[in-house]
Amino acid sequence: MNSKQIRQSFVDFFEERGHKPYPSAPLVPHGDPTLLFTNAGMVPFKDFFLGLDKPASQRAVSVQKCMRVSGKHNDLDNVGPSPRHHTFFEMLGNFSFGDYFKDDAIDFGWDLVTRVWGIPTEHLTATVYEEDDEAAELWRKISGLPADRILRCGKKDNFWAMGETGPCGPCSEIFVDTRPDLPRIDWEVGSESGRYLEIWNLVFMQFERDESGVMKPLPKPSIDTGAGLERVAAVLQGVESNYDTDLFMPILQATASLAAGEYGRDPEADVSYRVIADHLRAVTFLLADGVIPGNEGRGYVLRRILRRAVRHGMVLGFEEPFLNRLLPLVDEVMGNHYPELQRAQQASVATVSTEEEKFLSTIASASRQVQETIDAVRHEGGSELPGDAVFRFYDTYGLPIELIREIAEEEQLKIDEAGFKAELEGQRRRSREAVGEGQERMAAVRQAVHADEQAKTEFAGYDSRRIEKAGVVSLAREADKRYEPVERLEKGERGVAILDRTPFYAESGGEVGDRGSLQWEGGEALVLDTQKDPAEVWVHFVEVTAAGLGRGDTVTAEVDSAWRLPTQRNHTATHLLHRALRQVFGDSVHQAGSLVAPDRLRFDYTLHRAPTPDEMRRIEDLVNRWILQAEPTVITPDRPQQEALDAGAMALFGEKYGETVRTVEVPGLALEAGEVVDSLELCGGCHVANTGEIGLLMITGERGIASGVRRIEALTGEGALELVRSQRSSLRDVEIELGVPAEQAGGEIAEWREQRRELEKELARLRMKLVSGSETAQEQEVDGVKVMAKEVPSAPVGEMRNMADILRQKLGSGVVVLGSREESKVTLIVAVTSDLEGRVHAGNLAKAIAEMVGGNGGGRGDFAQAGGKHPEKLPEALDAVADLVRNQL
Ligand code: ATP
Ligand code: MG
Repeated sequence: MNSKQIRQSFVDFFEERGHKPYPSAPLVPHGDPTLLFTNAGMVPFKDFFLGLDKPASQRAVSVQKCMRVSGKHNDLDNVGPSPRHHTFFEMLGNFSFGDYFKDDAIDFGWDLVTRVWGIPTEHLTATVYEEDDEAAELWRKISGLPADRILRCGKKDNFWAMGETGPCGPCSEIFVDTRPDLPRIDWEVGSESGRYLEIWNLVFMQFERDESGVMKPLPKPSIDTGAGLERVAAVLQGVESNYDTDLFMPILQATASLAAGEYGRDPEADVSYRVIADHLRAVTFLLADGVIPGNEGRGYVLRRILRRAVRHGMVLGFEEPFLNRLLPLVDEVMGNHYPELQRAQQASVATVSTEEEKFLSTIASASRQVQETIDAVRHEGGSELPGDAVFRFYDTYGLPIELIREIAEEEQLKIDEAGFKAELEGQRRRSREAVGEGQERMAAVRQAVHADEQAKTEFAGYDSRRIEKAGVVSLAREADKRYEPVERLEKGERGVAILDRTPFYAESGGEVGDRGSLQWEGGEALVLDTQKDPAEVWVHFVEVTAAGLGRGDTVTAEVDSAWRLPTQRNHTATHLLHRALRQVFGDSVHQAGSLVAPDRLRFDYTLHRAPTPDEMRRIEDLVNRWILQAEPTVITPDRPQQEALDAGAMALFGEKYGETVRTVEVPGLALEAGEVVDSLELCGGCHVANTGEIGLLMITGERGIASGVRRIEALTGEGALELVRSQRSSLRDVEIELGVPAEQAGGEIAEWREQRRELEKELARLRMKLVSGSETAQEQEVDGVKVMAKEVPSAPVGEMRNMADILRQKLGSGVVVLGSREESKVTLIVAVTSDLEGRVHAGNLAKAIAEMVGGNGGGRGDFAQAGGKHPEKLPEALDAVADLVRNQL
C-alpha cells in the first residue's frame, strides 16, 4: 500500500463504521495560546471532549497534521538519528465523544491492523496500563493474543492526561516486531531499542481529575486514538525506517542528486539527509498554514528548523540556498491530500529562499565575530568563550549553538555552557512574563467568576447595540490586578460583570472589544473593555460611576455607538482591502494579521517585495470605488463550513472546526475589464450594512514588518475626514509662511534651499578668511617646531578640518591646534605636518588637550579630533599646547 492508500483505507474503514470524516485542522491551533502547534489528532476536538461544544456526530475520523517540537511532546533532537520520529508527521485517528468505549476501540483497531492492513498477528504485541484489567481481558478475547503478548506497563507510557486537571485515563498501544526472525525479548517492547515499533495508541478517557488530584469516573467515557502514518507506511511497505517509505524517498533522492551525493552510503551524511527531508516537510507545512519566520513563538520555531536544515545542508556541501529548490517536492509527494501546499507554494519558495540567503550571510559575518572574540579570549589567556558572548551570537546573530560550539572546538576552546544557559533562561522568563499579562488577567477573572460553571452568554450585538433587560449573573471586584467574587460592586469600584445576554462584542479576530455602559434604576457603570472567556462567557470590565450594582439586578446594556460604528467601518474596510490586495498582487497573498479599532485599522499580509506607489494607489482606488458603489454586505450566520470554503471563502489560519460558520460577503466590485469580483470571508466580527457607510478609505502607511510580511495602516470614515482636514490646515500654514499658493510651495522651498546653500558657502569663506588672515600671533616655536594654537569661531567640524589643513600648509612645518566652543561643548582639531612624523603625534596631543577640557579623543599621527565638556577651560588648554608639544619632543 502506498501512503495515499493507507490514509484512504483508514478513513474508509471508520467512515463505514459511522465516523464522520474531518479534514485536518491547521498546525496552528485555534484559540489556544498555550499550545504552539497541533501535536495530536485530538487537539481540534478538545472542546467536544470537555463538553464545551457539541459535535455533529459522536464518532469522528481524521488524518491530522502534527508537529512535535516543543513543550510536552518534543522530538526535535531525535530527528535524524531516529528512524521513526519526525517533527512534522500525520496522525491517523478515530474518536468517540461519549459513544463507544474500550471494546469497540480495541475491536476496530485489531480488525484494521490485521485484516485490512494484513499485518501478521504473530508480529503484534499490545500493551495495557498495569491496573487496567478490563483492557487486558478485552485484548485476550478480541485478538486471541497469548497472555505473554499482552504486556502491562506503567504510568509513564500507558496513562494519558489532557493536563494537570481534566480528562485522563489508561491507554493501550499496538507494537509491531520489526525483527520477527529473532527470539522475542519482552522488555524491549516500548524501550528505545527500536525493534518493537509503536504504531498506534488507543486512549481510554475514563476519568476526570480535579484540583486535589482525585479521579472521578466520567459519566460518558470517550476514545481518542492516534497512529503515525509514516510508521504504518514503513511496516506495510516492508522497510526498516520511515525514511525508506514513499513519503520520504523522493525527497531524499532529490536532495542527494542536488548535493551530488548518495543517500544510504555514509551513516553520518544520512543523518543530515534525514534531518533535511524531515525539516523540509515541517517548514513547507508550517508556511502553508500561515506561520511566518520570526524571532518569537511559532515563527521562531519555524526559523530554527529551517536554519537547522541549512546547517545540515552545509555538512553535505551545499554552499548556496538549496532548500527552496527542494520545497516543491513536498507538494509532489503530498499535494493530493493537502491542497494548501500548492496554493502557498510560490510564496513559500520565496520566503525560504530569503531566509536561506539571510542565514548564510549571517553565518559568514557572525563567524568572523566569533573568531574575534576567540582571539580576544586567547589574548587574555582564557580557555572558555563567555556565556554572555555566546548568547549574543546565538540570540542577536542567530548562530546555532552547535555551530558556535564547533568553531570554538576547532580552536581548542570550550564555551561557558552554564553561563549561556542562564542567559537563555533569563530571556525565556522575560518573554513569558510579557505574554502572560493579558492571559493572567483573564485567568484571574475566570477563577473569580467561575467561568466554567456559567451558562454561555447570549450575544445579541450584531443586530442591536442596546438591550433593555440583561441579567447580572456574576460580579467580581478588582484590586491590584486581583479579582474576588462579590455580591455587589459599589460606586467607584472597578471589576467585571457577567450578563446573561449582551450586545457587547468581545475582542476577537483582530477586532477590539466594545465599550459602552450598563444602566439601571439610579445607577450606571462604564464598560471599559469586553473579553471572551474560553467557556463562551463574555467578561465586561466595568467601573461603577453611580449607585451600586448587585448580582441578580437587571440592567440596560448599551454599546457606545461612537466606539462601535467606526470599528465596524474599519472591519468591513479590512475585508475590502484584503480583496483588493489579492486583485493587485495575486492569490498567493494572504492575511497575516489585523487590528480593527475605532480610530484605525491595520492589515498585515504576505508579500516578498515592497509594493510600488502605483500599486498602493490602485489598491486605494479599488477599495474606494467599492465604497462608492454602496454595495450591501451579506451576512450569513450559519453556513456549513465546507459549503463556504467551496464557495471560495477566505478562512483565517487557525480557524477551528465548526459545523457551521458565519460568513461576511461583499459583492460586486466592478473592475476595469468588466469583470466583477466579490469578497467572501469566514468572520465573526461586526460590519457595516452597506459599504457606502465607510465613506472613504485612506492608506496612511505601508512598510515591511518581517521577512515576507508587510503592514498597511489606514483610516476610514470620520478618521479619514479628520486626516484630510488636518493636512489641509497644515498646508494652509505652509501657504501663509511661504506667501505662495500650495501648488507653488515645492518650487519655493527648493529656491530657499538653494539660497541657503549659497549663504553657507559664503559664510564658510568669510570664516576661513578670518582665521587665516588674523596672522600668526599665536604662533610659537618650541624647540624649533612651529606651534599654532588658537580659538576659532564655532563652525561645522568638516570646515574646521579644512581650516586646520590650510593652516598646516601655510606653516610648511609645524603643529596646528584649533579649538572652538558652543554652549557646553568644545571641539578640537590637531594637525601635524608629515615631516614631524615620529616626533609629534596628533592623536596623543589631542587626547592630552581634551583631558584638560573634560573630554577625550584621539586619532592618527598627522590628524586628530577631540571633544570636551568644559568650554570655559578652552583658553587655558590652548595656552598649554606648547608645553604639551614640548613633552612629546
Ligand atoms: P514514541 O513513544 O514512539 O515517541 P509517543 O508515545 O510519543 O511515541 P503518542 O503520543 O502515543 O506517541 O502518539 C500516537 C502515535 O503517533 C504513535 O503511536 C506514533 O505512531 C505516532 N507518533 C508519535 N510521535 C511521533 C513522531 N515524532 N514522529 C512520527 N510519528 C509519531
Ligand atoms: Mg505512546
